[in-house]
Amino acid sequence: MRNNDNQPAHRKDPGYRNADERLGDYHEVERLLTVSEVRDQAGRCMSCGTPFCHGYACPLANVIPEINELIIENRFEEALEMLLSTHPFPEFTARVCPALCEGSCVRGISDQPVTIRQVEKMIIEKGFEERWVRPRPPQRRRGESVAVIGSGPAGLSAADRLNKLGFNVTVYEKELSPGGLLFYGIPNFKLDKDIVKRRIELMREEGVIFECGVNVGSDISFHYLKRRFSAVLLTGGSRQPCDLNIPGRDLGGIIFAMPFLCAQNKRIAGEPLKPEEDIIAKDKNVVIIGGGDTGSDCLGTALRQGAEKVSQFEILPRPPEVRPGDNPWPLWPRIDRVSSSHLEGGTRRWSVMTKRFEGDEQGKVKKLHCAEVEWVLKNEKHVPLEIEGSAFTVEADLVILAMGFLGPGPDILADYLGLKRDQQGNILIADNHGTGIPGIFSAGDMARGQSLVVRAMADGKAAAENIAAFIDSVLHP
Ligand SMILES: Cc1cc2nc3c(=O)[nH]c(=O)nc-3n(C[C@H](O)[C@H](O)[C@H](O)COP(=O)(O)OP(=O)(O)OC[C@H]3O[C@@H](n4cnc5c(N)ncnc54)[C@H](O)[C@@H]3O)c2cc1C
Repeated sequence: MRNNDNQPAHRKDPGYRNADERLGDYHEVERLLTVSEVRDQAGRCMSCGTPFCHGYACPLANVIPEINELIIENRFEEALEMLLSTHPFPEFTARVCPALCEGSCVRGISDQPVTIRQVEKMIIEKGFEERWVRPRPPQRRRGESVAVIGSGPAGLSAADRLNKLGFNVTVYEKELSPGGLLFYGIPNFKLDKDIVKRRIELMREEGVIFECGVNVGSDISFHYLKRRFSAVLLTGGSRQPCDLNIPGRDLGGIIFAMPFLCAQNKRIAGEPLKPEEDIIAKDKNVVIIGGGDTGSDCLGTALRQGAEKVSQFEILPRPPEVRPGDNPWPLWPRIDRVSSSHLEGGTRRWSVMTKRFEGDEQGKVKKLHCAEVEWVLKNEKHVPLEIEGSAFTVEADLVILAMGFLGPGPDILADYLGLKRDQQGNILIADNHGTGIPGIFSAGDMARGQSLVVRAMADGKAAAENIAAFIDSVLHP
């Protein structure tokens, strides 16, 4: 039984490296809790009879209270096994997950939630250090092969599961390195790419084949895939950016967030950049339009590149500091979140609408014309209304659009196969991840829209189980 008397009163987060120091490099900014601090935090778990963290919030259904129990008892290797029984790659979510589990932690009703993400980080990193994490190839290989198109968290998780079930798995990736947004989108200061490479290496040792630099549908055809593989899983992601179609949008110096972030990750990885990709914020006056996580990643990147000034504008109002009444526990708290990048510099403004861009004689952006808005209910919809007299201008020579994503956009293979799309343009799938064409499945952002690493992994894992069932029941009835 847990000794509740010895529980520390407060949650302890590890915090970040000093801002001046971390702005001089691209290494991970988050500090680590010590093993003893993690044990103390695990001790704050209330061992709930109905654990909402596990049953309601975590897409992977991690058995969090049981893992905490093992940590308190110093049974770290068993805790790792329990974590790996539901989670293919804890080292990724331990760094980048918003921790949906913590939003539903019962302790969070009256106190701060347990630091579940930090517990996960300690277990998996200790697992690697102690070499408890080692290649685990399947004991028996099957004859069938499966192709996974795309190596983001959805593709990796599906490949891992299919490989462990004994299938021969080839992952095709159009970029030079595997990892999808883990490698090319999320900045190094949140997720070091050595962590991604470490996992890919392990998967290779377990028998997964990675074919990088191969754009499926263009470099190899569907007919080739059909001849070689019993099933194909499409996990190409959701990268079509939302645009801002206002006057002046065609001026130079207005770019989307992903090429900006991707270029920096490629620079660090030593991968070649085309001249048009080589955009850097050094000495520039940068405005980021979009107040979400992608915008925050652009902010941290622009500051590290040596931007003169960085502002981040969001059209929505500033979220409250505590849960509003219509957002009760155990729902994910829609509150104002301050990222490590926000603590490093720049300014944030909410309820700001950009109305037009103004350029110089060379056709480059030099100014934004903006206004403050209030959100009003019109025809049962909240709409932004410009506040009279609130108009203002801001100088900028680099504008980064980080306003979210619309879906996968045109996709050579999906379009060639005539796959159906949903209203948002995502690949339409059935409950078993099937696309309607026998043997063709889809998962991750490509089928659900831009979401989270943890959801992509859960989708990939579920798709893998369904592919195995398809091969067993349809191909070998
Ligand atoms: C800037 C940014 C930061 C983010 N930060 C976080 C975060 O901190 N935490 C979090 O939980 N989520 C974050 N997300 C969301 C998260 O990264 C995604 O939800 C997740 O990566 C989706 O995984 P996926 O495997 O479906 O797709 P992706 O990661 O997009 O991977 C798709 C892969 O498919 C490849 N591909 C596409 N078409 C082909 C083809 N024809 N042939 C071969 N390969 C192909 C692509 O090159 C890509 O590598 C972030 C997203 C962005 C854009």
